Amino acid sequence: MESKRLQRVPSYLFSDLDRKQEALQAQGIDVINLGVGDPDLPPPPHVVEALQEALKDPANHRYPPYAGTREFREAAAQWFHRRFGVHLDPDREVLVLIGSKEGLAHLPWALIDPGDIVLVPDPGYPVYKTAVLLADGEPYPVPLDPQRGFLPDLESIPPGVARRAKLFFLNYPNNPTAGTASREFYADLVKYAQDYGIILVQDNSYSEIAYDGYRPPSLLEIDGAKEVGVEFHSLSKTYCITGWRIGFVVGNAEVVAALGKLKTNLDSGVFRAIQQAGTVALTGPQDGVLERVEVFRRRRDMVVQRLRELGWEVPLPKATFYIWLPTPDGSSSKEFTETVLERTGVVVTPGSGYGERGEGYVRLSITVPDARLEEAVNRITEAFGKGT
Ligand SMILES: *Cc1c(COP(=O)(O)O)cnc(C)c1O
Repeated sequence: MESKRLQRVPSYLFSDLDRKQEALQAQGIDVINLGVGDPDLPPPPHVVEALQEALKDPANHRYPPYAGTREFREAAAQWFHRRFGVHLDPDREVLVLIGSKEGLAHLPWALIDPGDIVLVPDPGYPVYKTAVLLADGEPYPVPLDPQRGFLPDLESIPPGVARRAKLFFLNYPNNPTAGTASREFYADLVKYAQDYGIILVQDNSYSEIAYDGYRPPSLLEIDGAKEVGVEFHSLSKTYCITGWRIGFVVGNAEVVAALGKLKTNLDSGVFRAIQQAGTVALTGPQDGVLERVEVFRRRRDMVVQRLRELGWEVPLPKATFYIWLPTPDGSSSKEFTETVLERTGVVVTPGSGYGERGEGYVRLSITVPDARLEEAVNRITEAFGKGT
């Protein structure tokens, strides 16, 4: 039934996890899902009110412009300049997306030919690899090295592979490892892309979810980056509006144009009302974002401290709402995920779902209400604490 192309990709990691959770709930088990990274917190109220207002305008219910409304693209460019000090041309260097996942998944289709190599991070957000497979490309996994803070060692990529590679997907702050990238790393990367003629595709979906004063940089802050790269941004995690489906890509005008051309043939853009409310989100007060990040910081501190009390080696993430935990008993990702589920009813994500180099880790997401998160940690402490 499935095409050969579709047969090359597995079903999506989280749709499998959803099924497992439903099966347990059907047995009457009170499952706590720390698997999916989907904020439980409500969006800032003024953003929701802006959407309510936008719904009242009949013009907003018609087809939107393909590249996004001029107003939203300008708002994105202004936000980008305020945040990273980089100027963007809203007409040529900004394209609105139906969430960043949509754009990331379609990009290989716009840029690669069958058999082209694409460098993808391992472990990594699964969409990069599957998008390459769906475009008949060849994903080449680039290990993220825990010793280097989950940055890749560019010199370890065989030059023959790099010469044939067309795209290089990167994602900092990183899902699932919570690794972060410095401007120095981005500068090396831009040089690398220039040397080998590779287009950099940096996914900055977590740029605003960072702690203790850390402000993640943009790839485009580097001189020359716009010649070789694009960066994907999302309003999903920043404003807790994952269900709205709005994001944008910025940077190299030719790449932006190619993706735009593909999209005019596939979809009809983002609901205008959502773009209008998204404009309000980007241009209005940002204290709602800081308040939400503060909630995640408190949860992060609580979980890290409680799990460390078990004698586990738990890294403290500087950004994202994920804890990337080496399995404390040395078991495999899948084994540990199943042990935790059976003994506690808590769902975590097996690291192996993000690539071979994710083996030996699980990912915990802190996007459930405080009380549920504490309950999850209590159950884990009871099940794995000393004397049990
Ligand atoms: C959540 C996530 C996305 C998808 O964001 P949307 O804008 O909601 O599509 C993209 N990349 C990474 C790494 C993510 O974790």
